[in-house]
Amino acid sequence: MNCNDCVEKFDRYVDRELNNTEVLELKLHLEGCPPCADQYEFQASLKRLVKVCCDKDTAPAAFREKLRQILL
Ligand SMILES: [Zn+2]
Repeated sequence: MNCNDCVEKFDRYVDRELNNTEVLELKLHLEGCPPCADQYEFQASLKRLVKVCCDKDTAPAAFREKLRQILL
């Protein structure tokens, strides 16, 4: 797996939509590639933030919209 493949799978990894083989490949790549690991951490924390905001519905709509724009 190269860095492009890895980055492309972040979304589905965070959403737990990858199969076991893909997860293993991704984890192996992240362990050996600090830039991708950093990028993954960033994406994962953004997603968690959005999920928390949307689930609890505590954030103002404008804030949620801004987060969505960052992610898309
Ligand atoms: Zn990489």
